[in-house]
Amino acid sequence: MPKIVIAVDGYSSCGKSTTAKGVAARLGYAYIDTGAMYRAVTLYFLQNHVSLTNPKDVTKALENIKIEFRRNPETGRNETFLNGLNVEDEIRKLYIANMVSEVSAITEVRRAMVAQQQRMGKSRGVVMDGRDIGTVVFPDAELKVFMTADAETRAARRQIELLAKGDMLDIDEILANIRKRDLIDTTRADSPLRQADDAHLIDTTNMTLDGQIALVTRMAEDTMTKI
Ligand code: C5P
Repeated sequence: MPKIVIAVDGYSSCGKSTTAKGVAARLGYAYIDTGAMYRAVTLYFLQNHVSLTNPKDVTKALENIKIEFRRNPETGRNETFLNGLNVEDEIRKLYIANMVSEVSAITEVRRAMVAQQQRMGKSRGVVMDGRDIGTVVFPDAELKVFMTADAETRAARRQIELLAKGDMLDIDEILANIRKRDLIDTTRADSPLRQADDAHLIDTTNMTLDGQIALVTRMAEDTMTKI
């Protein structure tokens, strides 16, 4: 079977990363969470008081940022490391979610992350989730899916996820964050979130995670047989 690139784009909290992870596990592919990379940059910028409006500051900071994914042998999951430190839990917090869309709208940040993502996927056999994978990072991806769901459904899912990690948050606060990120992500000048012309649209409002994984795996297998 030929190895392909699977681009999973879409709105926040549609189940993109769980789907992408599940599909990667079924196909024996690598999974790359590009949102985690933008979140790690956001954490670094906050910790180091980097001025978002000063391109020189931003460029200099980016030179000092090393992001890696390492497999946790206990859980079997990939975790995000920023300059050698495990930041997986920290980057999922709401204060990062509240800043990440502003940071990821900066052209210098996108240029650096996209270059790294293209290197990570150059030998193919990857499932990459994000906002611009099918449009910018891998416009030649053999399979592209674009996921969407009702904002209220997404907020409810996010609340359960955060609760499982011990963060109890009001649904309205989560919904406001999701709406804000949707707006910034879709209207930014550089690589706005949009469905690629050749992407398959999946509305996950009434789907289970297992159903999403099964559907995208089937699409991937179909795509491979046609190459
Ligand atoms: O996927 P996740 O919700 O973790 O992404 C966090 C944020 O990172 C998004 O809201 C978006 O602003 C940004 N992002 C992006 N391009 C990507 C992945 C994420 O701009 N490829």
